Amino acid sequence: VTQPTYVVIGNPIAHSKSPQIHAQFAAQFAGHPAVATFSYARLLAPLDGFAASVNEFAAEGGRGANVTVPFKEDAFRFAAARTERAEAAGAVNTLQQLPDGSWLGDNTDGAGLVADVLRHVDIRGRRILLLGAGGAARGVILPLLAESPACLTLANRTLGKAQLLLEHFQANTDIPLQVSEYHAIAGQYDLIINATSASLGGERLPIANAVFAPNALAYDMMYGKDETPFLAQAREAGVAQRVDGLGMLVGQAAEAFHLWTGLRPDFEPVLQWMRSQL
Ligand code: NDP
Repeated sequence: VTQPTYVVIGNPIAHSKSPQIHAQFAAQFAGHPAVATFSYARLLAPLDGFAASVNEFAAEGGRGANVTVPFKEDAFRFAAARTERAEAAGAVNTLQQLPDGSWLGDNTDGAGLVADVLRHVDIRGRRILLLGAGGAARGVILPLLAESPACLTLANRTLGKAQLLLEHFQANTDIPLQVSEYHAIAGQYDLIINATSASLGGERLPIANAVFAPNALAYDMMYGKDETPFLAQAREAGVAQRVDGLGMLVGQAAEAFHLWTGLRPDFEPVLQWMRSQL
């Protein structure tokens, strides 16, 4: 049995669709030398054994890995060097082995979100409202700011967490950033992104319909077979463009595939396949 050169590491991991996503990306480049040795599998690591698992994988010929729950912070510490966007995210979801055998840590979640949003609307000059201040929100702020929005408001239930997060980013940008509580959000926004896990519990956020501008795009990082509570809220507020987070998932994978192979897969057909699997 030949060992995979790439893996997705998590615990649990059996549910992960990453192997199918990457197999479809690689198939788009069949015959290309950059994918000649590309193979991708799941790797279950013990909760206290992330580094040992990666080292063992490397010893067997492993070249790169996607990292999922609960190891993104372990991967951050494990990486000998990190990209700017991984530093900003405070988490690593992609590892790449460098020629000297050490590991580069990257975070492609934000780039995945941005690539998916850009399929629908422009970000430059738009007003962004980001809901939530957990790991997912932190990971997308730098990539969103790199698209030159007009401003960004970060709203969170625990306001102090949002404040801490934005202070760090405001020190490095001229784009106006502000924090708010959900019920007190001022103004209208063109791009409203839900990065909370409230939808998981079927809950809606206490935000007013008035925050959605007439031609706004509502984006929920959560996805599933059914409409999410946040996207139902956006529909009732009259928002025509409503997108769930499945494209972000495929987008982060495409970005990792690019880091590893230098190739940019077409993620539209893969997204359609993923949708059919929900
Ligand atoms: P965290 O646990 O780090 O953060 C959770 C966030 O949700 C916090 O801002 C928290 O607020 C808020 N929250 C939780 N419950 C409620 C509630 N009932 N009412 C209001 N706010 C609430 O989670 P992550 O940031 O890692 O993940 C957030 C979501 O993003 C998840 O649903 C996850 O599935 C999704 N995600 C999707 C990805 C994709 O590829 N599509 C990638 C990554 C994440 P507070 O700070 O006040 O506790």
